[in-house]
Amino acid sequence: MEKHRVMILGTGPAGLTAAIYAARANFEPLVVEGNEPGGQLTLTTEIENFPGFEDGIMGPTLMDQMRRQAERFGAKFYTGYVTAVDISKRPFKVTVNGEEQFEAEALIISTGASAKLLGIKGESEMIGHGVSTCATCDGFFFRGKRIIVVGGGDSAMEEATFLTKFASEVTIVHRRDTLRASKVMQDRARENPKIKWELNAAPIAVVADGKKVTGLEVKDSKTGEVRVIETEGIFVAIGHSPNTGFLNGQIEADEVGYIQTVGVSTATNVPGVFACGDVADPHYRQAITAAGSGCKAAMDVEKFLEGSNVQDWITVAQS
Ligand code: NAP
Repeated sequence: MEKHRVMILGTGPAGLTAAIYAARANFEPLVVEGNEPGGQLTLTTEIENFPGFEDGIMGPTLMDQMRRQAERFGAKFYTGYVTAVDISKRPFKVTVNGEEQFEAEALIISTGASAKLLGIKGESEMIGHGVSTCATCDGFFFRGKRIIVVGGGDSAMEEATFLTKFASEVTIVHRRDTLRASKVMQDRARENPKIKWELNAAPIAVVADGKKVTGLEVKDSKTGEVRVIETEGIFVAIGHSPNTGFLNGQIEADEVGYIQTVGVSTATNVPGVFACGDVADPHYRQAITAAGSGCKAAMDVEKFLEGSNVQDWITVAQS
């Protein structure tokens, strides 16, 4: 069985930043890439809000450069899907693709979260070409255009309100006539004159002209009538799922499944297991915040492997 001091699970900005730091600390980390190497940023086009890139940078390019940077300092990459971990005792055991086994003295979990998609016709083909799951990332590209936001929760209200900064008009499309969103978020959206509402409208297909999105086909949940709402952009805001299935409940998480970390650290309730990026962050979910937490995770691992008592440095970090 291959043995490593540090294994990093996931290669979004959190995992790759952790890899850069852990590699520079001479741990030669093994980074498991997963099914979506580079993470959610590889689903976007241009990223304009990652500091240091005055003219923006394409998501896949940024992730590729982070990966090369980690490799330059000695990080090793393994392509495969982590199917299980045994963290009941150290060294931890990591199973990849259901069979390959690895051992690690410390683990950094940075498996991210996946935006939920509607699963309707035309949706996956148009991601990055008019369909988006991230208003902060892509809203800017829809200046002066009509946009649809799908969903009835706080995320949909927040994204719709944010998108009114760019769009000429934002229509919230929700499959029921009552919203799941908190009253304060609903009120904010209702008070916004640029926001229109299409309730009882269940999305059934993304309509495109081959190159760009032109509409969203919806079915009236009460009458069954099918029609197309014209739009240039569709933001799907129906929630995220943290990618934690492989943990099988071995780490403390909130009710949705986001890993809980201790205080300002990236330590989990299992000594030697650290979590960073979106898998432990239901709130900020930005590339730069994920990268920052990846840096913290590698520094926490270094302290842990040096033999510091986990509680000591968390207490210091919090004070
Ligand atoms: P959510 O509360 O689970 O809402 C998801 C929405 O998407 C629901 O309205 C749901 O419809 C709809 N939906 C789900 N699957 C769908 C499908 N296949 N087709 C059409 N519609 C679908 O998720 P969220 O809005 O991301 O919020 C998650 C958590 O984060 C919540 O606790 C929320 O309060 C919190 N949050 C807070 C803030 C804030 O306070 N600033 C911002 C964002 C999120 P139904 O209602 O019909 O099920």
